[in-house]
Amino acid sequence: MALSIVDSCVNCWACYDVCPSDAIYQGSPHFEINAKKCTECEGDYAHPQCATICPIEEAILDAAGVPMNPPGSLTGIPPELMAEAMAEYRAR
Ligand code: SF4
Ligand code: SF4
Repeated sequence: MALSIVDSCVNCWACYDVCPSDAIYQGSPHFEINAKKCTECEGDYAHPQCATICPIEEAILDAAGVPMNPPGSLTGIPPELMAEAMAEYRAR
């Protein structure tokens, strides 16, 4: 059981220092989680610390590949409203 970091990671380093298992490392082009070391924070914290601090929605996935911070969870902007605004922006 391990979380993973995907392409939308912006390499902000926030998760690096909060991992109790030293499972996060600077990969290329983005940070990575060593699946052999990640404990999903079990025994240390109630919630995965990397996902709790990560400022980017969908950058960290759970073991099933589902975003820990889904669209709208951090911004508070409903995904459909964001899609509408982006479509309007692109049309300019
Ligand atoms: S879930 Fe916990 S142990 Fe796994 S990478 Fe994130 S902070 Fe580290
Ligand atoms: S906190 Fe999120 S955006 Fe920042 S380095 Fe970690 S995974 Fe990437």
